[in-house]
Amino acid sequence: MRRNIVAGNWKMNNDLQEGLKLTSEILNMVQDEVNDNVHVILGVPFVHLSSVSKLLEGIDNIFLSAQNCNEHESGAYTGEISAAMLKSVNADYVILGHSERREYFHETSQLLAKKVDIALANGLTPIFCCGESLEIREADTQFEFVCQQLTESLFHLSPEEFGKIVIAYEPIWAIGTGKTATADQAQEMHEILRKHIAGKFGEEIADNLSILYGGSCKPGNAKEIFSGKDVDGGLIGGASLKSRDFVDIIK
Ligand code: PGA
Repeated sequence: MRRNIVAGNWKMNNDLQEGLKLTSEILNMVQDEVNDNVHVILGVPFVHLSSVSKLLEGIDNIFLSAQNCNEHESGAYTGEISAAMLKSVNADYVILGHSERREYFHETSQLLAKKVDIALANGLTPIFCCGESLEIREADTQFEFVCQQLTESLFHLSPEEFGKIVIAYEPIWAIGTGKTATADQAQEMHEILRKHIAGKFGEEIADNLSILYGGSCKPGNAKEIFSGKDVDGGLIGGASLKSRDFVDIIK
């Protein structure tokens, strides 16, 4: 179902004590802001999941996310974490295809298609990230490029499976750079993605999809960026590490 979502992506920040403190601060400030139409997701490092999930017990509309999973069910993959393991520590979501994973860990669209499958098979909701580099934006091929990312990793799904996905559009040139897309640029891309999805899965599924924007979202710009009719919230990196900023963005 389409709803407003603000998801934090802590990336590789915070030790466990810091993560628990941040979670408690957020919980103290945010509970009046969430409801069935406004969900908050905390995308925490693997080693925080189990403990953060205890803090979230019994709390409605605030969910837990991992930042990656392995594409295999289980087995001899030293150092990796499976979707089933994430589910077993009460993760609800998993961020897949973040541009940092595509770039530094060489994750391809084909690999991401497998990760999406295994996440769904284990009852996790993928937050599927897509977005173009500055080079692609300057060549003005961003729409084809991002649509193609969705086609390659998601268009093998059944309509029912696709209906469970959340999309996050994150232009790489805006991530951690302090440079955001304008509200118009975000809306334009989101609208094109929604049409692309409608072409494959139909209007109803496209209309029911939450599409988040990510890239240097802050309390000072979130309201404007989220005002686009196809922008359903944000995936927040740096500003999700400060409870006040994160909650202000949610507000
Ligand atoms: P940022 O990161 O908000 O720090 O730009 C967003 C993201 O990478 O998800």
